[in-house]
Order: sequence, then structure tokens, then C-alpha cells
Amino acid sequence: MRKELYIDGQWVAPVKGGAFEIVNPATEEVIHRAAAASAEDVDIAVKAARRAFDKDGWPKLAGRERARYLGAIAEGIRARQAEIAHLEVIDNGKPFPEADWDVADAAGCFDFYAGLAEQLDNNPEEPIALADARFTSKAIKEPVGVAGAIIPWNYPLLMAAWKVAPALAAGCTVVLKPAELTSLTALELAAIAHEAGLPPGVLNIVTGAGSVAGQAIIDHRQVDKLAFTGSGPVGSKIMAAAARDIKRVSLELGGKSPFVVFDDADIEEAVEWIMFGIFWNQGQVCSATSRVLVQEGIYERLLARLVEEAKKIRIGNGLEEGVLLGPLVSRRQYEQVFAAIEAAKAAGATVACGGKRPAGFEKGYYIEPTVLTNAPLDSDAWREEIFGPVLCIRPFSSEEEAIELANDSRFGLAAAVMSKDDIRAERVAAAFRAGIVWINCSQPTFTEAPWGGYKESGIGRELGRWGLENYLETKQITKYVSEDPWGWYIK
Ligand code: NAD
Repeated sequence: MRKELYIDGQWVAPVKGGAFEIVNPATEEVIHRAAAASAEDVDIAVKAARRAFDKDGWPKLAGRERARYLGAIAEGIRARQAEIAHLEVIDNGKPFPEADWDVADAAGCFDFYAGLAEQLDNNPEEPIALADARFTSKAIKEPVGVAGAIIPWNYPLLMAAWKVAPALAAGCTVVLKPAELTSLTALELAAIAHEAGLPPGVLNIVTGAGSVAGQAIIDHRQVDKLAFTGSGPVGSKIMAAAARDIKRVSLELGGKSPFVVFDDADIEEAVEWIMFGIFWNQGQVCSATSRVLVQEGIYERLLARLVEEAKKIRIGNGLEEGVLLGPLVSRRQYEQVFAAIEAAKAAGATVACGGKRPAGFEKGYYIEPTVLTNAPLDSDAWREEIFGPVLCIRPFSSEEEAIELANDSRFGLAAAVMSKDDIRAERVAAAFRAGIVWINCSQPTFTEAPWGGYKESGIGRELGRWGLENYLETKQITKYVSEDPWGWYIK
């Protein structure tokens, strides 16, 4: 495991020599000491990225050449998939099959953006028809410059890929800071990029605290664009910092996403997707469908089946075969989720199942899959993100009521609907005020499709061609082609 920062194509010790501990959330053991970057280290990294962008020619390479590096990174990830997935489990706590899937997705993300980098060569310019025949005009796309990327701990390698792959494809250079809770696989990504021969300074990875290294990235005047995934309060800080020097900014923040299940849905299928929508990754998913609305005709039967199945979920260390729910990522997260459950009870919610530490675990940040009923509509349990395996469920009577309850949120990241009536499902999908809508499922995420939120869930879109646009500027080039003199001053 790496103990240094990856700056300008080299492994370097932090200038001030700081370090911080990384804890395995299943065992509570310190498994690593990672380097803590200071503002000085970030400055060196940003200057390296600046030079790689301004002088060394990364943005001038043909898209197909950048694509070769991206393809090599994808290959490098795949070649070490099981090893990286193992690191993700001991760092984040998620069950191994989930980590394995994440790592495969991260490789796929680099492949996808390799394809888009190649396409940039085919469509370099767009002619613009002007009303004035004395001029011709065209629009071209160019990379934004140096991107500062700051990511959370819930999908450590995948969130790095979502930012690094499109940025490099577009021709940007990058300074990436992983979350301090989960830095291991981002450092492996640096090693893989190095082996792929990525030129020095194109990708720099600095580990460290958000308040120090993260803050130094967002404050740095030579960073052109900030790309962030994480909590709303930090998102606000990032937007404020970006406002000072008009940095480009994209934010992927939290949510409290609804899942509307109509009477005509198959109860078994609904229970499966409801559980996938909240217990996957221990519920530490920004798009988790944590507010479930079930039509009253099937509410009681569905709730009974949900409780029955939630109780059966095998909890344990993510490295154990058959485990489907691991520990939460940290003691702090574990305490916050318990505090949210206690607050929900105090507000009048009923615990239908879970709500406690599972029996038989001496160590580890484990919480049972939890289903809450009767959470008041104005309670934090119903309105605020818990970011743990905690679901609020309530009945509704009409489609109109379901839509109103679903949209009554300051967030708008995702929403899901389940019904056998396709016309109704499409109608409800259209009515949701959310950036991601699932019909008859919840959570499946595809690199090709846009990802991001309405309202306080963020600004901009990642993934797909929208993700590439995040890292591109548009330039118009207009030419005077008339034989006649302009003749304004000189007649
Ligand atoms: P967080 O906002 O505390 O941390 C995210 C990152 O920001 C970390 O790398 C952290 O070090 C850094 N950071 C903290 N303070 C900073 C500062 N002052 N300046 C610059 N960087 C700073 O969030 P978290 O606890 O790591 O993640 C959980 C949250 O992220 C949840 O609210 C969740 O909804 C959200 N999230 C959203 C998405 C999405 O796609 N929209 C994905 C994952 C997580």
C-alpha cells in the first residue's frame, strides 16, 4: 500500500511530512497510514498539472492518443481487479461482490471515455450559419484546463473514475483528492496510470484532509474547474470558493429519493428493488431510494414481506462469502446513523425492523437493516438524508398524492416508480422533479447515461457525453471573408 503522494509523475513524501490513519470498518483496526497533503503539496500538484496543460501538450494530443492512455488504464484496472476490490472492502467495508462490480465499472468508465476521446477527433468543429454573408463562423470544443476533483468515500475508485476519465478524455489535467476515509484505491489508480505511461503532471493524486488539502484545491487560483461529489454543506463551500474566481463547477450532492409502488406491482419484485434501493452499499448511496411510498391496497402485505426479507440479510465482514451488508464506513457515520434512528423514534416513527447493532459483533460499525414506519412528513427521518441502511415507508391512496409526496423535498437526485401500467409509470416518471428516474427498478447506473440532480442535489451532469461536456469549453471562431472593406471609420 502506498504512503506517498502522486505528483508530477512521481511518488513524493508530503512537504510537511504529515500522515493520517486508515481504519478497516469491519475490524476497527488501523490498516494503513496515508500521507496528509498540505496546501504546499497541493500547490506543487496544481503547478505540475498547469505545466502539463499549458506547456507539455496533453490537450494538444489527438483524442485517439489520449484514448490509448485511457484504454491502458482500463486494462491496468482489470488486470488487478480482485486485488483492488479487496482493498476497497478493507477500506470502505462494502461486501466484496459489490466492490468487484465497482472496480469493473471503473474500468468500463475509462473504456467509455476512451471512445468519446476518439470521437472528439471526428467532430472537431461545428460550422455556424450566420445571417451576415461577410463572415463565416464555427464552434469548437476545447478542454477547460486544470480540473480539481474532490470525491467521497462511498464508491472510492468509481467516483475517481467518473471524474478522471472524462477530464483526461477532454484534454484536461487533474488534481484529485480522495476522501480521507478511503484513499487506498485512488493511490492504486495513480500507480496504474503511471504504468500506463501517462505523462507527468497529467494526473496528480493527493491524499489528505478536506479542510486542508481539499480547501487548498478549491482555493487555488490556477485551478480552472472544480468537480465535487459529497455532502451539501461542503458543496456550498465549493461553490462559494468557485464564485470568487469564476471557476467552472459541477456538484453531485445528496438526496432523499422517493420510490413509489402502485397496487398493481408484483410484491416480491417490489420488495427486491426496495431493498436494493436502500441496503446496497449499506445505504451509503447518494441516490438511495430511502423514502418508499406504497399504495394502500398492498401496503400491509408489502411491509410484512419487506420486514421478513430485511431480517434475513446476512451481515458481516465484506470479505466473507455470502455477506450482503457490511459495516458503515466509519465510527462517525455509524454514530450519525444511530442518532438519526433515535431522532426518528423521538419524532414518532415506529421501528418495524432493525434499528440496532446486530447481535454477535464485538467490533465493526454494523447496523441492522432498518425499516421505519409512521415517520412524520415534517421529521428529519422523512426529509433529510441518513446515508445508512435506514428506510422510511408510508402508504398513499392516489397517484396525485404520491407525486406530491415524492416531490415534496429540497432534493431532486433520483426517484423510482413501480407499476404494471406502463402509461402510468411513464406519467409518474415525467412528473418527478429529479435528474435520475427508474421505472420498475432502483439504482442500476450506466456509464452511458447522464447522472446528476435537480434542486439541492447538485449542478451539472456526470457520465455519458454530458460528463465529457463538464470538462469542455466552447469557442467560436469567426472570420471576416468579404472582399469589401469594413468601412466604419475609414471610408
Ligand atoms: P463530504 O462532503 O464530507 O466529503 C466529500 C469530500 O470533500 C471528501 O474528499 C472531503 O475530504 C472533501 N472536503 C471536506 N471538506 C472540504 C473543504 N472544506 N474543501 C474541500 N474539500 C472538502 O461528504 P462525505 O461524507 O465524504 O460523503 C457523503 C455525502 O456525499 C452524502 O451526503 C452523499 O449524499 C454525498 N454523495 C453524493 C453523490 C452523488 O453522486 N450525488 C455520490 C456520493 C456521495
